[in-house]
Amino acid sequence: MPSDAIVIGGGVGGLVAARRLALEGLTVTVLEQSGSLGGQVARQRVAGVDLDAAAESFATRGGAVAALLAELGLAEDIVTPRQTPAWLHRADGSAVPLPATGLLGIPGDPLAPDVVRAIGREAAERASLDAVLPAEEGADAASLGALVRARMGAAVVDGLVAPIVRGVHSSTPDDLPVERAHPRLREELRERGSLAAAVRALHAAAPAGSQVAGIRGGMFRLVDALAADCARLGVTIELGARVEDVRPDGVVVAGRHRSGLVVRASGAPDAAAPRTVTLVTLVVDAPALDAAPRGTGVLVSAEAPGVTARALTHLTAKWDWIAEALPGRHALRLSYDGTPHDVVETATRDAGILLGTLLGSLADATVHTWTRGIAAGLDDILAVGETVAGTGLASVVPHADRVARDVSASSRIGRGPS
Ligand SMILES: Cc1cc2nc3c(=O)[nH]c(=O)nc-3n(C[C@H](O)[C@H](O)[C@H](O)COP(=O)(O)OP(=O)(O)OC[C@H]3O[C@@H](n4cnc5c(N)ncnc54)[C@H](O)[C@@H]3O)c2cc1C
Repeated sequence: MPSDAIVIGGGVGGLVAARRLALEGLTVTVLEQSGSLGGQVARQRVAGVDLDAAAESFATRGGAVAALLAELGLAEDIVTPRQTPAWLHRADGSAVPLPATGLLGIPGDPLAPDVVRAIGREAAERASLDAVLPAEEGADAASLGALVRARMGAAVVDGLVAPIVRGVHSSTPDDLPVERAHPRLREELRERGSLAAAVRALHAAAPAGSQVAGIRGGMFRLVDALAADCARLGVTIELGARVEDVRPDGVVVAGRHRSGLVVRASGAPDAAAPRTVTLVTLVVDAPALDAAPRGTGVLVSAEAPGVTARALTHLTAKWDWIAEALPGRHALRLSYDGTPHDVVETATRDAGILLGTLLGSLADATVHTWTRGIAAGLDDILAVGETVAGTGLASVVPHADRVARDVSASSRIGRGPS
């Protein structure tokens, strides 16, 4: 039987779209080139425990991911990270806790003691001028870097925003469009008259005070649950099915044309200018880490001497469920642009520097390299997923659901009443 809809790619974007299309009554096939579903939400086994190999959390903004998890029966398993601050490893090699009320490093209170400690009194005073600048100043800036520089000065961009954008988005503030940083930041700035006030408002709006959440047992449980729901709804899933060519009315797989309404959810591998990100997970026996010396982790300034990692997450200090799964041990995750030479040795050395202590013995280590990028040439094909919606599940999930709803509504109109 021919499919009504063909979804290319079985990452979260593709699975959310496929599920919605099936809920709307379409016959759906998902074509996934690899041997497993989930794409950048993936499972790995480290020291005998299943952990996430890429995405480990989701932004709570908008509420779409939590709503989907609830629909899939996972509401009870949503967990928030421990509320200890992450740290900043600065360009001069020193470390300070990240200011508490920030959004992507933009301070909600520029003169707060933790901001002064991080960037110095003079820079904090320059940042506080944001409160008296006209609301329009910087409000049209294309990038986050330009916006924050115009309102709060270069020291906030270089000292606070850049390490966070590097760690979270693998990008620089000047390459990150304002809407991708936060879809409501510009609007809140115009409404409230200052960037700090906008940040405070967005902070206050975050559910239960936490800007991110995870799933007990791992984010990959979202993929398992989506796959199970797709199966229940009769979605056909073909693994090892690489789409070789895409046309608006169908796709080519293994040299054969298959017709149907095409939804492209193939993520970064087909993107223009792809970049790689390498994630190293270390499990160590290191009692010195019991006190979580750098809270939930460290974001690293690009200029920091002697460190190649751009971020470190102390997984067992961040998530209770991981600490419970690895009693007496510590799990650390380091991320890199590209793949460094002698990657596990580099990660072990970086972790020691960033955590300010000697690591104990290494129990296990894994390395995963991911390709990411911005898609090009998709104008004539319906697309979902991070290449069009923006990085992260809080962007990918609601976008894929909305696109699939819209396309099924228009396909119903095209068919006339049934
Ligand atoms: C290291 C890392 C950490 C991350 N951490 C977080 C986090 O903590 N929180 C968060 O919200 N987000 C995080 N993200 C981002 C988030 O995981 C992604 O934005 C999201 O999972 C993208 O989903 P997607 O469906 O758009 O793409 P993908 O997950 O890339 O899925 C695309 C799928 O399409 C398949 N495919 C590609 N080409 C073809 C083809 N020709 N034929 C058939 N199939 C094809 C691929 O094999 C893949 O399965 C992280 C990403 C990485 C790499």
